[in-house]
Amino acid sequence: MIRPTVVLGAGLAGLAAAHAIARRGGDVCVLEASDRVGGVIQSAWQRGVLVESGAQSLRGNSSAWRWVEELGLAERVLRGSAEAGRRYLFHRGRLVALPSSPLGLLRSPLLSAAGRLRLLAEPFVPGRPIAGESVFDLLARRIGAEAADAFGTPFVGGIFGGDPRQVEAESALGRIAGWERDHGSLLRGALRSPKPSRSPGGLFSFPHGIGELTGALGKSLAARVRTGVTVEGVAEVGAAWRVQTSNGSFDAANLVVALPPTVAARLLPGIPTPGFAPVAAVLLAWPKPAVEAPDGFGWLVHPAQSTDALGAIHVSAVFPAHAPDRVAIRVMLGGTRAPALAALSDDALVAQAGRVVAAVSHVTAEPSHAFVGRVLPGIPQYPLGFAARVRAFARPGLALAGWGWSGPGVPDQLDAAEALADRL
Ligand SMILES: Cc1cc2nc3c(=O)[nH]c(=O)nc-3n(C[C@H](O)[C@H](O)[C@H](O)COP(=O)(O)OP(=O)(O)OC[C@H]3O[C@@H](n4cnc5c(N)ncnc54)[C@H](O)[C@@H]3O)c2cc1C
Repeated sequence: MIRPTVVLGAGLAGLAAAHAIARRGGDVCVLEASDRVGGVIQSAWQRGVLVESGAQSLRGNSSAWRWVEELGLAERVLRGSAEAGRRYLFHRGRLVALPSSPLGLLRSPLLSAAGRLRLLAEPFVPGRPIAGESVFDLLARRIGAEAADAFGTPFVGGIFGGDPRQVEAESALGRIAGWERDHGSLLRGALRSPKPSRSPGGLFSFPHGIGELTGALGKSLAARVRTGVTVEGVAEVGAAWRVQTSNGSFDAANLVVALPPTVAARLLPGIPTPGFAPVAAVLLAWPKPAVEAPDGFGWLVHPAQSTDALGAIHVSAVFPAHAPDRVAIRVMLGGTRAPALAALSDDALVAQAGRVVAAVSHVTAEPSHAFVGRVLPGIPQYPLGFAARVRAFARPGLALAGWGWSGPGVPDQLDAAEALADRL
């Protein structure tokens, strides 16, 4: 029997692809090696603190909101605190507020007068295609090299663990890069890009974390998801795809590969794979008086200032309900700027994360909770020319989904799912 569509992997990307296909009336089956859905997204309460393994928060004005409504999760949404809009940069040993508006950019101590003026010229810089351009080159062309380095370098470190000069703009920041294409300017694009109606804005999660989103997708797909089925081989047989698994073989007219890129590379020779930035995420929590709680979403670090950390998220400031009566901070360490950090022992990582927090906050006690997570081989890094290689790999009835190919964040996987469901 040839099935219409088989999806490999029930991480967010595979679940979203299957959901988008099923919503269009398609017949779809998802094969997942582990005994649970969600992949890197895993939310678990541990000793009274919510520990996220993957995504921590979603933006209310992203496409994620439409999915939240469709899955009946809008009532469950846990909105981030008002102060989550404030973000900082670790600069010369202290936290400096990052600008949150065009006016804030004009006043930012992080830019010289010339840098601010150049940034103001962004709407008047003529647009051009971004094919093959790095994130740094795109930003430098639009907002000037000084602002690109001051803001883009720590941002790419914090989100990807990577270096903006090595990461391809089209692959990593497809939506933002599209603002220039569609509106001729990043500023105009940011102001004019459509926002989902009824979206709450700001950041959000759920009472039991982002795992509620993948859990709801798994529930809506129900028996269409088969867990405990490891894909061991993929072959093109005539006009169909044959998938060998630990539980027999499946033939499909359409195949969606939503596997980790390293697994996909073993199954499909020649598939373009990104590089990786190994990252450790250490969640530390203290009883409230032990740390002078920092406000805002968190802080980023420019590698010229320090390579001790990529940045940190003030989990308890953004979502107090995820760490009741605690100050909880998730410190991200490693990345391409210090890849060896992700290989340190748990004890060494906890000590390093504690030192990083102590550098910016007054800490009077050891943390009461410490949870170490590692992203290995790492967060995908899209090398220059990667989008063109992905396009060149196109085969009839084959779609690549997931953060190995579609971009780093949850909205990237959701947008890619809609696009591939339209195409297949
Ligand atoms: C630390 C961290 C923080 C993040 N924070 C954010 C954030 O705040 N906001 C945001 O938007 N995004 C964030 N992200 C990114 C987001 O979590 C990812 O974009 C998304 O979860 C990737 O999902 P995926 O389905 O592509 O991959 P995966 O989750 O890796 O899914 C792949 C699936 O394939 C399965 N599999 C593997 N081998 C086989 C096999 N042989 N056969 C069958 N199945 C197999 C795996 O078990 C897994 O379920 C974060 C990620 C990390 C790691």
